[in-house]
Parts: sequence; structure tokens; C-alpha cells
Amino acid sequence: MSNAPIIGHYINGQIHDSAERFSDVFNPATGAVQARVALAELKTVDEAVAAAQAAFPAWADQSSLRRARVMFKFKELLDQHHDELAAIICREHGKVFSDAKGEVVRGIEIVEFACGAPSLLKSDYSDNIGGGIDNWNLRQPLGVCAGVTPFNFPVMVPLWMIPMALVTGNCFILKPSERDPSASLLMAQLLKQAGLPDGVFNLVQGDKVAVDALLQHKGIEAISFVGSTPIAEYIHQQGTAHGKRVQALGGAKNHMIVMPDADLDQAADALIGAAYGSAGERCMAISIAVVVGDVGQKLIDKLLPRIDALKVGNGMSADSDMGPLVTAVHKAKVEGYIAQGVQEGAKLIVDGRNFSVPGAEQGFFVGATLFDNVTPAMTIYKEEIFGPVLGIVHVPDFASAVELINAHEFGNGVSCFTSDGGIARAFARNIKVGMVGINVPIPVPMAWHSFGGWKRSLFGDHHAYGEEGLRFYSRYKSVMQRWPDSIAKGAEFSMPTAK
Ligand code: NAD
Repeated sequence: MSNAPIIGHYINGQIHDSAERFSDVFNPATGAVQARVALAELKTVDEAVAAAQAAFPAWADQSSLRRARVMFKFKELLDQHHDELAAIICREHGKVFSDAKGEVVRGIEIVEFACGAPSLLKSDYSDNIGGGIDNWNLRQPLGVCAGVTPFNFPVMVPLWMIPMALVTGNCFILKPSERDPSASLLMAQLLKQAGLPDGVFNLVQGDKVAVDALLQHKGIEAISFVGSTPIAEYIHQQGTAHGKRVQALGGAKNHMIVMPDADLDQAADALIGAAYGSAGERCMAISIAVVVGDVGQKLIDKLLPRIDALKVGNGMSADSDMGPLVTAVHKAKVEGYIAQGVQEGAKLIVDGRNFSVPGAEQGFFVGATLFDNVTPAMTIYKEEIFGPVLGIVHVPDFASAVELINAHEFGNGVSCFTSDGGIARAFARNIKVGMVGINVPIPVPMAWHSFGGWKRSLFGDHHAYGEEGLRFYSRYKSVMQRWPDSIAKGAEFSMPTAK
């Protein structure tokens, strides 16, 4: 579709929409191509890095309060454009409008946190540690940082990075997902309107070519990545090999334990939202229910009418609970997993394949799917499906549930539904997962905590945003100072100690 609008790059305060290669951007609810996104070559990445390098000295030299004021204004503009951003998400990603609005809110919260930069960057000072010497620390910017983001949160995940990188005094280059690139372009324009100097934030659209160019570029100090585990591992390995600081958040397989003492109506409601919300395309989606003791059939009886009542359709319709998957390729992949689950012996109770929405037959819809009798050896247990597919695993007791979850290669999110405080405490302390919910199905940490998984769900040392994000985007420096009147005469040859 050659006359489809082009979604371009944003470099040094200008949109650039010429490119040698383009990729189609679909409307998942209709299956139609609605735009083409430019794909950056090495030259475009070079231009973005040069713009960021030129802008860096002046931006890094601004007071943290002035940088925070840009964030205050940016937050105001995000509020004004809240519905527009949510509609863009709906159109390109497919999730329902209310969910998209929630995503924007969670992104804005990071901007609000970043508005506290002057206080967050305040350092520690030790007066007179001995001999007229004072010692304090600084947190200084790294330079030009880059971020590579996934399709499933086209506003929220870029906002995990952009405000944190900018208030700490860095310049930033974002490479969003080529599947839903428009929201980032609008945010780039809002940053300019908020008073951000040209070159401080740049956007390169693209695919692996752009990502590899960023990974290898000598002008980039740090890379934040969020996406699937194989790519996260690749980014971490390549980025560190090229001397960069890397934070690479990967995929997930999130379990929810349902204990016999749980309120099963609450557990069923939580599972329906957490497994099928956003059509399961969330890294914190629950894809495995671990039912303890005799909970299994009782829970299934509660889930079935709820699945039956789910309204699947175009995300822009106020009627829909769940929209389509992002692309036809992804729909085929999810349906392939369902077929494999059947082949490997899981009991398919609700089959979401061949799902059609009247009037939107070409949309990329898969209906809610439920498997019982899933076992740890099955592919649908081991791998991330990233679609509306919930599997049920039966275990005899709490200890077996914890053992099962701790043995999984992923450790992003987890939840336990129980009314027993002792179980809840043991769960929080012993589970080997980064984000834990107790009677909370999707425990995404607030902006002033930090987001990240364990095991093969995160490569690198820092979680995203909050204090961990602040540390990732700044370099720690310790300064020790004395003045000549406190310096004793003569050289000292022993290790200096506090006197
Ligand atoms: P993806 O890994 O396919 O793509 C992520 C980014 O990497 C995109 O910008 C893409 O252009 C780029 N990319 C893709 N292939 C590449 C390659 N071969 N070399 C270099 N770059 C490449 O992920 P996705 O499908 O966009 O997003 C879904 C995945 O992201 C899921 O696995 C989900 O769990 C994960 N995710 C994780 C978190 C988290 O916080 N842990 C959050 C959101 C999504």
C-alpha cells in the first residue's frame, strides 16, 4: 500500500521520513495496513547519535531543577493528549481503549517520579571525616543513552526510560517497536513542546539493523532494552561486549498459586483479567494457574462462565473486554502453541482458535483459551505464548507449588491467592521471582519502586525506573576535599585512615 502515511524518525527536533526500507503497520482489529514506518540504516543512527552528542554538554550542565521543569510540562502535555495517545495505542496495538488509557497513566507516573529529580539526585555529605577532610558523592550523567522497546506497551515502556534518562542529564535515543511506532513520535513532539532542547531526545524507527547500529556505536554509553528473552540476552551480550552499561528485561511465564483457603470468586476474577486482559500480551500476564489440593475443578467451574461472558472485539468499542493480537504472524504463533498443547496431551477446555468477530473477519483475533492438566514437561508450560491462553497445573501442596515456580527459567511476576498470613509470608520470602503479588494478580511496582524480574527475565544489574532506574542512568562519584591549612607537612606512606 504505497500511499499509506509514513511514520518517520525524529532527529534534532525534526521529523525525517525518507528511508530506503519501510515496514507495514497494521490495524490489528481490521487486518488492514494503515501506515508504513521508516526503517533506519546505520547513517540515520549516526545522525541521531551526533545530534545527541552535540546536545549533551549543555543539557548535562543544566540544573536538575530546570530539567525537572521540562518533565512537569511534559506531564501536563501527556495529560492533555491522554485520549489521543490511548487511541493510537488501540489502533496500532489492538488493546482496548480503557486498558490503553491505564497504560498511559502508568507511564505518566514515571514522569511524575522524575519531576522529583532535584531531591532524588541530592547527595550524601560527610563533614570532617578526619584531618579537615570532607567526603561527598555525586551522581553524574552517562552521556548518550539508547532504549529499545517492545510492541506491547508503546507508551508505558518508553516512559520507563525517557524521563529517568533525561532528568539525570543524559541525552536519549529511542528505538520503539516497528509494529506500533506512532505513539513515540507524538511523545517526541510533546517533549519539544515541553521545552526540551533539540537533540536531547531523538527517535529512530527501525528493526535489527538500527538496534545493531546502536549496540555497536562508540558514542552510546548505555542501552536499556525491554522485549523477548532471546533478544534481551543478545542485547546484553553485544552491549556489554561493546563496553556499554546494559539493562535488558526479557520475557516471562507468570504463575498464580490458588490455595484451598483462597476466595475462589476473587481468584477467578483475578485470573480472567490477568490472563486475558490485553489478549495476554503483557509481560506480567498470568499464563499458569497452579491449583493446590482439590481447588482445580472448583476453580474451573468459576472460570467457565466468566470466559463465556468475555466480549472480544475492536479495542475502540466501549463494549470490548479483549482486542485482537498485534499481527497475523503473532496470531499464527499463538494458535500454533494451542495446537502443540493438544498434541502434547493437555486438556483443551476452551479453544480460542478460528475465532471470528462479525464485521472484522480479517482482524487478528484469538479467543480466550483454557487448558487443564498442563504439566511442566509441556511446551505450553515452558515457553512464553504471549496470547490469551491460560494453563492449569495441579499440585498437592504449597511446597510443591513453590518448587515448581522456582524451577522455571523465567522469574518476572508471580501471585498467590490465599487468606493465610503464614503462607503469604513464606511465599514472599521464598519465591525466586522479581515481582510478587499476594492476592494481587499483576504486581507491577509503582513508579518509586522498581520493575524487573529474576533469572532469564532480566539481564543486567538494575531493574527499571524508581531508584534502580536513577542508578542505571547515572555514574556515582565520590569526592574528598581538604584545604591547605589542614594538610600536615611531609609525605605519608601508610594507608590513609580516618583520624
Ligand atoms: P521483541 O524481542 O520481538 O522486540 C523487542 C524490540 O527488539 C523491538 O524494538 C524490536 O524491533 C527489537 N528486535 C526484534 N528482533 C531483534 C533482533 N533480532 N535483533 C535486535 N533487535 C531486535 O519483543 P516484542 O514481541 O516486541 O515484545 C514482546 C516481548 O517483550 C515478550 O517476550 C514480553 O514478555 C517482553 N516484555 C518484557 C517486559 C519486561 O519488563 N520484562 C515488558 C514488556 C514486554
